[in-house]
Order: sequence, then C-alpha cells, then structure tokens
Amino acid sequence: MKRIATLVASIALGVSMFAAPSFAGDKGLVGIAMPTKSSTRWISDGESMVKSFQELGYDTDLQFGEDDIPNQLAQIENMVTKGAKVLVIGAIDGTTLSDILAQAHEQGVKVFAYDRLIRNSPNVDYYATFDNFKVGVLQAESLVKGLKERFPDTKPWNVELFGGSPDDNNAFFFYDGAMSVLQPMIDSGDIVIPSGQMGMDVVGTLRWDGAVAQARMDNLLSANYTDKKVNAVLSPYDGLSRGIISSLKGVGYDPAGKDFPIVSGQDAELASVKGMIAGEQYSTVFKDTRELAATTAKMVDAVMQGKEPEVNDTKTYDNGAKVVPSNLLTPYVVYKDDITKVLVGSGYYTQDQIDN
Ligand code: BGC
Repeated sequence: MKRIATLVASIALGVSMFAAPSFAGDKGLVGIAMPTKSSTRWISDGESMVKSFQELGYDTDLQFGEDDIPNQLAQIENMVTKGAKVLVIGAIDGTTLSDILAQAHEQGVKVFAYDRLIRNSPNVDYYATFDNFKVGVLQAESLVKGLKERFPDTKPWNVELFGGSPDDNNAFFFYDGAMSVLQPMIDSGDIVIPSGQMGMDVVGTLRWDGAVAQARMDNLLSANYTDKKVNAVLSPYDGLSRGIISSLKGVGYDPAGKDFPIVSGQDAELASVKGMIAGEQYSTVFKDTRELAATTAKMVDAVMQGKEPEVNDTKTYDNGAKVVPSNLLTPYVVYKDDITKVLVGSGYYTQDQIDN
C-alpha cells in the first residue's frame, strides 16, 4: 500500500522513483537569462540548462531577452525579486548589468556569466564558455583551407571580413583569433581585402543581425567588386553567413558553380548545416551547448555546496573589474563531410532533421 502511494506521488510529481536523487526545487531557484530566441542555439542552451539543473535538484526560471537590453534587465530584476539563489546570464550587452548584479550580490546571489562575459562588474563569480579565441582561429583556418581547395590558382585571394556584435565580448575574441591566422597572410600579400575594411569598429555587426550583414555585403559588392570576384568571406556566426550568402547569390554567384566564395560560420544551426550540404556555406564551428549547460550546472552546484567549481582558465577573461575564473570548453570545426559523424553522431541532430 505504502509503495503504491509513493509510486502515485512520484508519478504526480513527474519524477522517477528510481532515477531522481533529489526533487526539483529542493536546492533553490536558478534564474537563467538567455539573450534571444532568434538563434536556435540559445533555445537549446536554455532547454539543456533547465534539464541539467532540474536533475541536480534546482528549480529554474528561464527567460529570453529578445535582444532588448531593458527587457533582459527587467527579467533579471524579477528573478532576484523571486528569490533566485543563482543567476546564469547570457548577456545581450555585456556592459549594462552592473547595478542589478551589485544588488544581487548584496543579497548573496551567485552570478555566472554564460557563454558571453559580463563586463565592468566585480560581481561576476564565474564564467563558463568555449575557447572563443580558438573559435576565430578555426573559422580563419577553414577559410584558408577552402581558398586553397577552391581557388588554387587565384592568388592573391580577395577576402572580406565580418565581425560579431561590438557589445558582445566574444566578438572581439572571435575576430582576434581569426586575424591571428589572416593578418600574416595579408602582410605577405597572399590575401587582400579590396574594401580595405578591417578592425572590429568597422566590420562589427550590431546584435549579430543577419539582415545588417546582408546589407553590408550588398554595399561591399557594389562598391568594390564590379571588376573582380570575392573569394572568401570571414563570417563569425551562421545567421550572418546566411545573410552574406543571400547577398552573394543576389548578384549572381552560383553555389552550384566552381567559384562560389568560401564562407565560414558558427553554431551549426540547422539552416546553415543544410546550406553546407547545398554547397553554400563552407564550414561552421560546432559548440555543444548541451555540454556547456551541463558544465555550468555542475559549477553552480559545486558553489552552492561551498566547494570550488572546476575552472581551467584564470588569466584570459578580465572583465574590466576583475579576472573572472573561467571554464573553457572545446569548439570543433565542421565541414560538409563531418556533418553526419559529428552532428548526428553526437545526437545533436537526427539524420531526419538534416535531410528534411
Ligand atoms: C556566441 C556565439 C553566437 C553569437 C550570436 C556569441 O556570443 O558565443 O555562439 O553565434 O553570440 O548569437
């Protein structure tokens, strides 16, 4: 009788009698503030975190700021008011959260920067992300590989550069990582930038907006490529890559032809994975958001138990107020031929999602 009662209670609570070591909610509330749903990666980050935290016995409040800074601020304030013990924040603008974080810290709330560093605040306890410099290196290396493969006889190669959002600290790491590969080739004359547009102040794309990238690519093409062809475009994110590719197709570059420009990317978004199969995008960088979510949850859990969380970098991420101890995960470059092995093999996508 007692067993049956427990079973019924377990089913009512939606937990397995056998698997769950603790009940969701036992350990307090975690506020999860993600930047936007416009990119699928953040949706899967959010979902994976809810799952990981619940398995560890936490309650969660997941909110998406929809790229609106005051909106994200209000969501975080609301989490603190609701009594969150921990905030995990993927910031829209990494510089605008100082006041709310000071207030949160005063109430003993622990603050974790998620994927993107929160800047100019001493009240950021830890940072979980990927090796962002390496992301940029992989993007540029893939561009060079593609140039050698597709344009072996065309040197110097004509390349244009795109950067991410200037209010996102990651954008500078991606750009610097990429330039560590490309700058020596520009210096040696193997690569030229016909527009002359270089540097994050010129090539940045506010809020990672694909339409903004597309408009800039349109301008670059009409101003600089009436008598020559562009061979490659450095793009730091799949959403920008798709805008850039639309622009290229708009002026007649043909993905089925032999001289479609090499375009990089990041996040292995489904639309871009399909674009890679169609010969439009050359590469992407896969960052397993499930792994980042699980790592963050583990770090949070350690801190909540008064232990030291795992970190592997205590030097790189100076946020302007302190060096934030960080846990950096590994990004992987993915080409067309790796899609099944890496993205399907890891269970990130099903073959069916890719085929249909
Ligand atoms: C993330 C990238 C993402 C970009 C746009 C960056 O902060 O690290 O994975 O492509 O934001 O959402």
